[in-house]
Amino acid sequence: MLDVLVIGGGPAGYTSAIYAARAGYKVKLITGNQDGGQLTITSMIENYPGFANPISGIQLMSQMREQSEHVGVEIIYDIIVSTNFLNYPFNCIGESGTVYESKSVIVATGANAKWLGLDSEKKYMNHGVSACATCDGFFFKNKIVAVIGGGNTAVEEAIYLTNFASKVFLIHRRDKLRAEKFMQQRLFNSPKIEVLWNSIVTEILGDGSKVNGLMLKKDEGQCKKLSLDGVFVAIGHAPATKIFENQLKLDEQGYIIVDGTKTSVDGIFAAGDVCDSIYRQAIVSAGQGCKAAIDADKFLSRL
Ligand code: NDP
Repeated sequence: MLDVLVIGGGPAGYTSAIYAARAGYKVKLITGNQDGGQLTITSMIENYPGFANPISGIQLMSQMREQSEHVGVEIIYDIIVSTNFLNYPFNCIGESGTVYESKSVIVATGANAKWLGLDSEKKYMNHGVSACATCDGFFFKNKIVAVIGGGNTAVEEAIYLTNFASKVFLIHRRDKLRAEKFMQQRLFNSPKIEVLWNSIVTEILGDGSKVNGLMLKKDEGQCKKLSLDGVFVAIGHAPATKIFENQLKLDEQGYIIVDGTKTSVDGIFAAGDVCDSIYRQAIVSAGQGCKAAIDADKFLSRL
């Protein structure tokens, strides 16, 4: 019987596990299929406090993993495939067949960026293709970049990228943006941003090691090549909450509804991108992980 079961191996999961283990609890962290989470697919990180020099996402997460082990967290490379939060103590079943029984659970399964699904997108991932302007925008000083999408994220990322890039294309598949009106106004007012309407990206082009352009198909059917240095895909994120659908209250986009870190079930807490569609930053997730562990401690002390 565990005191705290942490589901998810990103910054929220590891931070909550470190805090819970240091509070003296028996803690297991289940990594999921991408130990380290979304940071392992980003390039260099320059905005996580405590590192004077840029650190790679992989290095940062391996530091969190080691730190967790040092304080007594047991890390399990398994994927939770089903949960039972309706009976107490809670139990979760791993793909391995193992049943994890715990007095409290911290859900930190994160969210995944949606991708276009092109082979060339995979090929140039982290070599000019990114899904996070806050993480990677800095590397495109005085370069030409494109943002794909028409929602708030795409518009926000395009505006943010004007701080670095010399020119930003916003490529949208329709003739209307989904983003809020005031965001659209800011976008249209920026002299550095050009919106390409009714355009679908059919291929990301490169020289074998980095991006140097993309192919667009307009809705009239003609194709156009665009030369540029970076592509930011901003077509939405999907929270990893499928296994919690009948267990926890989710909002209409599938994010876990929380009050602080408390979910709809007493004793189950959530932290990080799985319950945050707005900030989506490693440092915010880590902070929420810390809060979730403190809330779990309060819950366990009450038992
Ligand atoms: P959204 O789902 O709102 O928008 C996704 C965009 O990507 C849409 O314009 C959609 O096009 C486009 N798209 C989807 N799939 C494809 C595809 N395969 N190829 C090309 N384009 C595609 O996601 P966001 O991440 O922008 O926002 C998610 C939520 O978070 C929203 O509720 C948003 O309001 C919120 N948010 C709020 C912020 C804020 O308040 N500051 C900041 C960022 C996000 P189409 O329009 O044609 O469907």
